[in-house]
Amino acid sequence: MNYQAFENLLLCPECRNPVNKAENGFQCSNTGCGCFYPVYFGIPVMISCHNKVFQSTDFSLQAPPDIFFKRYKNPLIRTLKRLRPDVTLNLESKKNYRQIGEQLSNMAGCRVLVIGGSIDGTGIGELKKRLPPDAVVVESDVAHGPNTNIILDCHQVPFTDNSFDLVIAQAVLEHVLDPFVCVAEIYRVLKPGGQVYAETPFMQPVHGGKYDFHRFSFLGHRRLFRHFRENASGLLAGPGSSLAWSLRYFITSFAPGKKIDKYISYVANFPVFWVKYFDLLLNRNKGSMDAACGLFFHGTKEPGYVLPDHELLRQYRGYRY
Ligand SMILES: [Zn+2]
Repeated sequence: MNYQAFENLLLCPECRNPVNKAENGFQCSNTGCGCFYPVYFGIPVMISCHNKVFQSTDFSLQAPPDIFFKRYKNPLIRTLKRLRPDVTLNLESKKNYRQIGEQLSNMAGCRVLVIGGSIDGTGIGELKKRLPPDAVVVESDVAHGPNTNIILDCHQVPFTDNSFDLVIAQAVLEHVLDPFVCVAEIYRVLKPGGQVYAETPFMQPVHGGKYDFHRFSFLGHRRLFRHFRENASGLLAGPGSSLAWSLRYFITSFAPGKKIDKYISYVANFPVFWVKYFDLLLNRNKGSMDAACGLFFHGTKEPGYVLPDHELLRQYRGYRY
């Protein structure tokens, strides 16, 4: 989708003033701010000129050198990657996306913001194929990818308040420096009655190298979204998947260097991936929540609503104490 479909919603992520169209980009209308936002490869780069982590020029290259997703040009490596069995058994994402897609299917012109959407997340196709044809789908990231139609940092979302009907953050909030700020931004850009859908890992070792900062227990994740009324929440993958991940990282921990780690990381999935199938049994037990591999939260923005902490504690689903 071309950014012209949503440029009327853009604002300056630094000072939240309107932006004006300029040559090769957008200029903040506030002269005291003065940030300029270039458009590279037809993609607006809405990174504040004061951002400490990213600079807009990082995205002037088609594949920035030091940003999240590696591209493998070699077809042999791509095939080998496809053949490698996954250590996560996630049966929930598809189901959740299908349900949300059905709710939005009759909402003509609905607006969806995907954070971390440079590539398709697990199961998101179930949502996309149900959206009405005139839906505006903003697929954002801090990386170029096949889906990216805007570059943004979700600590400073460059959209006006009350703009979206759905915001998705799938496998994103562990990678941001301050997830509470990001969720506040999600809340701000959602319309009243708009929905948030988030998936976040819990018992999972570091992935994405240095861009991995947080894990949340079930209640920790719920509290992160305490300004949202809950529609549904639960585990995406259980202790079987957590153990498969741990075993994989146990094996890779023997690697004395980066190069050997790369090879071990590839082969380590084969002897351990089957452990994830225990989840078919374990996910039925409430105690599995305390060792879940990943969690999801689906909620609605209802202005004025806050989940009180004493109510939060009553939502514990495990067996311990
Ligand atoms: Zn500004």
